[in-house]
Amino acid sequence: MNSSNQRVGVLALQGDVREHARAVEACGAVAVPVRRAEELTGVAGLILPGGESTTMDKLIRAFGLAETLREFIAGGHPVYGSCAGMILLADRITDPAIDLKGQPQQTLGGLDITVRRNAFGRQRESFETDLEFTDLTDAERPVHAVFIRAPWVEELGAGVQSLAAVRIDGAERAVAVRSGNLLATSFHPEVTGHGESPGELRVHELFIRMMKQEA
Ligand code: GLN
Repeated sequence: MNSSNQRVGVLALQGDVREHARAVEACGAVAVPVRRAEELTGVAGLILPGGESTTMDKLIRAFGLAETLREFIAGGHPVYGSCAGMILLADRITDPAIDLKGQPQQTLGGLDITVRRNAFGRQRESFETDLEFTDLTDAERPVHAVFIRAPWVEELGAGVQSLAAVRIDGAERAVAVRSGNLLATSFHPEVTGHGESPGELRVHELFIRMMKQEA
């Protein structure tokens, strides 16, 4: 895959920015940290990293980025959110955090899903599992997925496709979804690289193919 002309923004306010940048570069594309609105210029797609969605929400607003990011999403640019990033992309949260002023956390929205934060409960706060994931290259090979206080997708709106799910207490829960140019995973493919090993890159590759309109 020739991705060298693909500039992928990574929202760099908080969270696992470096891990995403490393995965993007390992796919042969260029990672561009985004902290200011101008930095979105010339970027073909954007990654919203994992971290803490309430902190990112506050920083997005403090940095005056909310409108620009919403316009970027509404403009049809490809955006991929992992974990906290999935929460930021969701149109609705079942249980938003409430701040000291009584204000619920906000999302950027754009993806017609309802997410439940920290959905897997205490015993499964963090866990790893192998998942079947549609639409990847070599899709027979499962994705090794790392979940850290992850959300799941409680409801999918019309036009939202589930790409991967886990079975929890007898119910299927979507943990990877796509709608048009928007992609979100409950888990963190970006944290699977160690040392020389790039880890699981196929989700980032899918996103870069979306940016090139090849997927
Ligand atoms: N629980 C976090 C949140 O609500 C997400 C955790 C993560 O990104 N690993 O933002």
